[in-house]
Amino acid sequence: MKKLLLHVCCGPCSPYVLQMLRGDFQVSGFFYNPNIQPGREYEFRRLEVARLAEKLAWPVVYAPYDMREWFAAVRGLEHEPERGRRCAVCFRFRLEKAFRHAREHGFDAVASTLSISPYKATAQINEQGLALAREYGIEFLAENFKKRDGWRAAREQAAALGVRHQEYCGCAFSKAERLLRLRK
Ligand code: SF4
Repeated sequence: MKKLLLHVCCGPCSPYVLQMLRGDFQVSGFFYNPNIQPGREYEFRRLEVARLAEKLAWPVVYAPYDMREWFAAVRGLEHEPERGRRCAVCFRFRLEKAFRHAREHGFDAVASTLSISPYKATAQINEQGLALAREYGIEFLAENFKKRDGWRAAREQAAALGVRHQEYCGCAFSKAERLLRLRK
């Protein structure tokens, strides 16, 4: 069976995607999300993934929280809206770390839970993943996990496991954007 490294963005998105892939691949998780702010929210999401991983007997690696590097990568894009250019940089930043880990540890393929979310542009995620696949010579699963009612199924599965959904994407800018929407 091929070894697949699944970039994991958070707990609620994971069980459904894991279930979709486990029949075809030997799946390991890779939690790398320095985009999540503030630190206590990052820690909350990381611990939710750790709790799930234990429940689902799933090996997950937790990469360091290098928030400063992430801020440096998106500098100048602070005012971009969600789904704009900042998100493309953010996806590439996180996925590249997964590709590096995959290369160093002999994985055959990389995928991400990111496309399960209806708030994220799947084409943007897959464009970054496929570009990295060419650079690293490792397959990227250009999936759209939200299709065929995947989002609803993922929510139901997460709720059954007692995992809370997040109120914003992750970065401080997406949190501010959400607060602004609520005020309007
Ligand atoms: S909105 Fe989400 S995907 Fe976009 S930059 Fe912020 S954390 Fe990354």
